[in-house]
Amino acid sequence: MNRSPEILVVDDEPGIREGCKRALTRLNYAVDLAEDGAVGLRKVQQKQYDLILMDLMMPGIGGLDLIKKVHDIDAEIIIVVITGYATIETAVEATKRGAYDYLPKPFAPETLAVLVKRGLEKRELRLEAQRLHHERDQRLLELAGEKSRLRTIIGCMADGVLVTNLERQLVLWNAAAVKMLRLSGTDEPGRPLSHYVKAPSIDGGRGPGLCPGVHFRREGSSLDEALQNILSSKDPGLAMISQEIRLEDPELVLMAQMASVRDERGTLLGAVTVLRDITKLKEIEKIKSQFVSMVAHELRAPLAAIEGWLDVVLSGAAGEDERKKEAWLERAKERAHSLLALVSDLLEINKIEAGKVALKMESVQVADIIRKTVDFLKPVADRKSITFTIEIPDTLPTVQADVQDMEKLFTNLISNAIKYNVDKGSVTIETTVDAHYVGFHVKDTGIGMAPEHLPRIFDDFFRVEDKRTSKISGTGLGLTIAKKIVDSHFGHIEVKSRPDQGSTFSVYLPYQKRTK
Ligand code: ADP
Repeated sequence: MNRSPEILVVDDEPGIREGCKRALTRLNYAVDLAEDGAVGLRKVQQKQYDLILMDLMMPGIGGLDLIKKVHDIDAEIIIVVITGYATIETAVEATKRGAYDYLPKPFAPETLAVLVKRGLEKRELRLEAQRLHHERDQRLLELAGEKSRLRTIIGCMADGVLVTNLERQLVLWNAAAVKMLRLSGTDEPGRPLSHYVKAPSIDGGRGPGLCPGVHFRREGSSLDEALQNILSSKDPGLAMISQEIRLEDPELVLMAQMASVRDERGTLLGAVTVLRDITKLKEIEKIKSQFVSMVAHELRAPLAAIEGWLDVVLSGAAGEDERKKEAWLERAKERAHSLLALVSDLLEINKIEAGKVALKMESVQVADIIRKTVDFLKPVADRKSITFTIEIPDTLPTVQADVQDMEKLFTNLISNAIKYNVDKGSVTIETTVDAHYVGFHVKDTGIGMAPEHLPRIFDDFFRVEDKRTSKISGTGLGLTIAKKIVDSHFGHIEVKSRPDQGSTFSVYLPYQKRTK
């Protein structure tokens, strides 16, 4: 207690009151007086006292009542009952009801001083105990809050988290880790990691590891072995291991990053492993590398042909025959031309992929674009005496689209309808409108396609290879581009075709109904 203790003397005898005040003030206590229970109670309500000296026999509120009322206000106030010998039994009763002690009248100032001192020490102890209690409760609360916060945060993470102690026992994990590694039995924490891993072996099932099924691909080590490495390493530099894990069931590729956990003094406590699902990334990587090898393959053929024709010319095999030389150079040029077309299409695909997020969407009347495209391609069609029929109503809804993309899309479809058509054939362009989509149908009377080719028609570099198409040049990327454009406009593209019966390519683009 830093302030001087506050004492209240409640007694209807002025002599006792004043006597107590004198004796206690001398001892540097702050003393207030009250002549009866009611006044005393009021004072307790207004001010915080450490100790009350209280006569039991008072008019009005009696001492026993007052004890209860005072303790209702502050349970830790020390109450010392002053009593005559005649009421010693009541004094005992008072202590039973919560009074700290009693002081029989008459008493010497020294006795009073000793009792008050002891009472105040008791009060100090009680307050200290109360403080500690409160602090402990508060800490427990904070700890519980901290713990549940930590659990909530870890639980919400999309990455899997596994925390293991020095004995490689699992002490903390999250739902994502349970899902990725198919952990089971996590309701029983504190077992070795291997206890929870359910997945069967991977990579052809290399030997029984402590954590079978969760192998690191590189040297085929298991998750548990990596844990062992990180926990047994004397090298504090080995703080992190990053490895890829391939699981068979479910088929997943995970990136595991394992880091040692140390306290502020550097003592090793365990390890935390973060698992990231990189299955999709790996797939994209695979598709990319397949695409690159396909591109290399496609570029190789025309380049080799060009080199071949040039070699023949340079070898002098044509002698003085200029027409022969010219014919060979013409072939080289043709192949160079198709190589250029291929490179242009590849650049186009690249542009579509890169520009997906930057499409210039505007309200477009696709019918206008179709008419313009037909006009542009008419000279090519005329060479085969192909006729066009465009049946598009004036009331066709507009769609949100990128004009340049629409031009590329219909140029590809209509030029195919000409390219793969027969002489004197026809191309018809019709539209349909349903609740959500405008359909554009490019119909030709050409060579058509066999049903087995249709599922691959939109694949990169796919071309139907037969007698009738062998003379038609192309890259096999036109429909890939068309599909990518349609996809980026949230539409879909379909094909119906039968050999010698012609083909119909249908593009469906979403439109917004006008509200009146
Ligand atoms: P290409 O540059 O070869 O025309 P596309 O991707 O546009 O590439 O078309 C892929 C293949 O689909 C073509 O090689 C052709 O075999 C077939 N095809 C496309 N359009 C038609 C069509 N209208 N009629 C018949 N076959 C078609």
